[in-house]
Formats: sequence, structure tokens, C-alpha cells
Amino acid sequence: MTDAEIIAVGSELLTHDRLDTNSLFLTEQLNALGIEVRRKLIVGDDRARLEAAVRQAVGEMQVVILTGGLGPTEDDVTREAVAAALGRRLIFDPEIFGWIQERFRRIQRPMAENNRQQAYRIDGAQPLPNPRGTACGQWIEHQGRAVILLPGPPGELKPLFIAECIPRLEKLVPPQVIRTRYYRVAGMGESDLDQLIAPVYKKVTNPATTILAGAGDIQVHLRARAASAEEAESLLLQVAPEIEALLGDRIYSRSGDVLEAVIGRRLRELRATLAVAESITGGLIAQRITSVPGASDYFLGGFLVYNDRVKTALLGVDPDLLAAHSAVSEAAAKAMAEGARARTGATYALSITGEAGPESSTGAPPGTVFAGLASPEGTEARKFQFGGDRNRIRALAAQTALDLLRRRIGA
Ligand code: AMP
Ligand code: MG
Repeated sequence: MTDAEIIAVGSELLTHDRLDTNSLFLTEQLNALGIEVRRKLIVGDDRARLEAAVRQAVGEMQVVILTGGLGPTEDDVTREAVAAALGRRLIFDPEIFGWIQERFRRIQRPMAENNRQQAYRIDGAQPLPNPRGTACGQWIEHQGRAVILLPGPPGELKPLFIAECIPRLEKLVPPQVIRTRYYRVAGMGESDLDQLIAPVYKKVTNPATTILAGAGDIQVHLRARAASAEEAESLLLQVAPEIEALLGDRIYSRSGDVLEAVIGRRLRELRATLAVAESITGGLIAQRITSVPGASDYFLGGFLVYNDRVKTALLGVDPDLLAAHSAVSEAAAKAMAEGARARTGATYALSITGEAGPESSTGAPPGTVFAGLASPEGTEARKFQFGGDRNRIRALAAQTALDLLRRRIGA
């Protein structure tokens, strides 16, 4: 296994101003080559700290990639810090200087004196030409390690990495193939899910299993590494079918598609339409449904009904029903769904009502949620009890209502 570390250099990356996105790109590329990123580090424009970080990384990893800090100014310290960490000199490279001069000629701008700084190369480094900027990359083989310097701007780093680094890295690592399975799961909590599938995935370390949890939405990733695709697939077969069987129809996507996209595709297939009536979620469900391009093909519209009078006026919900059962009840959820379906003529109408907290307006404890669904097969409603703050309860309510619909339409 080849281990890598990415060091993102730049004081701005330590603030709110700029996110380190280069390492996300690089991690994906490295993983595809079978190289595992073991550590990522962000270091400000500080020569001494960077030198110490590089020294440590080179002591532990076969591949060390630095991004940023290759500019022409005082605060660009990557070349110097890496040279010092490796105990190598910086030498002026006339070839690199030629590229820089040529670039300024092409864009018809005078070259500033300090751009000369960018022509310094670490002794023994191969220069990696950067057709999109003046900061040239560098590839250094040092005591069996590869140390790579890349420019900071993502638009320069990406093409340079693909053209210059991938071919060199491929020669370095044993041929390795990664095969993955990817499941998105709704309708269960993270700890329940883990309890269910841990006995299966804990049996093996390859494939590696990662569980990423959001509100009512969990992603399960399996990654198998092997010398060939067949071998990686057969490693996956040791656990994937068992995990799939345990999760069953709680898996709503195997491609990474979000719930609203899966629902949209199925509604289009069925040539069915949808309307929503939302209380507790204040439009979250409609927002998610309409975030999918082309949603207007199947989404007719929705109702935001908070006040009881508005539930009656817009959806025709019987005031006596609301008085008898309260607005947070199975009866109210059903009546809202039926009203939305009748008023829009939609094939399916989804409704949601509940208490988001922290206070209760109906007496039901915060986190009490009823989702209703009116369809050609009749009307159903389900009660849920969620924990957490207002935002989490609302997000769970929207997710659960969408999942109720997904199951009904067989998506
Ligand atoms: P530098 O090479 O440090 O002069 O950075 C040049 C530009 O690239 C600056 O605008 C940086 O903010 C940006 N940049 C540097 N490192 C990263 C990174 N890891 N992710 C995204 N942008 C970056
Ligand atoms: Mg910088």
C-alpha cells in the first residue's frame, strides 16, 4: 500500500476566506491510482513550520504532495521550505526561466523582477511545466519517496497533475484496482444501521467500509483494493450482498443520487404527478423536489399551511376535524394530503404536520410528526417521533415524508 500526505500551503486556507479544495481533487485522483491519503495538513505561509511539516511527512509517507506557495512573492515559501527539509540546494534553472519569459511574451506583459524567484528549482527536481501560469511544478525523488510541488490555483493544478504527475505515479505504485459499492439509505438512524451491518463489514478490512450520516440519510461506501478488477469484485462479493440483504428496501440509491432525484425519476416513469401540503417543514419538501432539474414535469405545486384557518381555506380541511384531533394528528395529515390531491388533481399528494419545537403549540411533544400520503390506492398516514433541535426535526420530517412517497411508488 502506497501512503500519501497532502500539505496545502497558504495562510488564507486557515481562514474563512478560502477552502482547501485542491486536496479533495488530489485525494480522488490518488485513490483512483490505489494510493491512500493518510493525512492532510494545512500550513500557513510560514517557512519554519512548513519545513517541519515536510520533514515529518517525508519520514512517514511514500508520496508527499504540496500545493500552493509557489508564487513570486515573499510569502511564497514552499520551494525554500522543501529544499531545507530535504537538505538540498535551490538552483536557478535557465530552462524554467525561459518558460516564464516566454509566457510573459505571449500575454504581452512585462515580467516583474520577482518572477525570477519562480525559476528556482530544488536540486535534483524535475520541473513540471505549467502552461496556465508562471508557477512551475516540481517532482523530486528523495530516498525512495516522491515529493511533489504543485501550484495553488485549482485551474493550474488540475491539468498539471493529470498531465505530469499521474504518469509518473503510475510507474511508482504497484498496479492496483479499486472497486466500490455505494448505497444511500433512508428510514433508519446511524446507530441502528451500524448495529445491523457492523457484524458483516467488521469481518474484513478489504473492502473498507465508511458510513456517512446526515439527517435521516446515510451513505454506506465499500472500497475494495486488489491487483485486478476481478479480484476487487470478488472481495466486494464477500460482504456486499449480505449488507444489501440486511438493508433491503431502505436502500434508495446505488449511484449516489439523492432521494428527490430517485423519486422524480420514478414519477416520470409512472407519468404520475405530485403535490405537497407542508406545515412543519415550511417548504423544505417542495424545495428538495424542485432542486431536481425538470421537476416541473411531475411536480404540480404545494401549499404552505400553518394556521388552521388556512388549512381549511386552501385545502378544505374540516375545522371540526382539526378541533377534535388537533392539527398535529394522523387525521389532520390525511385530510391535508387528500385536500392537496383534490385541489391540484395530482396523482400523489404528500402532507406533513408536526411540532418542530422548542415549544409546543398543540400539546404534542416537540419532534412529533405525522406524514400523510394520498394516492389512487387510498390515503395513509404515519406517525414519527424525532429528537434534536428545530432544524434537525424539520430536516428529518422532510426526509421521512419523501421516503414514505418513495416506498409507495416503488422507487
Ligand atoms: P499560491 O500558489 O499559494 O500563490 O496560491 C494561488 C491561488 O490559489 C490563491 O488564490 C490561493 O488561494 C489558491 N489556492 C492555493 N491553495 C489552494 C487550495 N489548496 N485549494 C484551493 N485554492 C487554493
Ligand atoms: Mg499562497
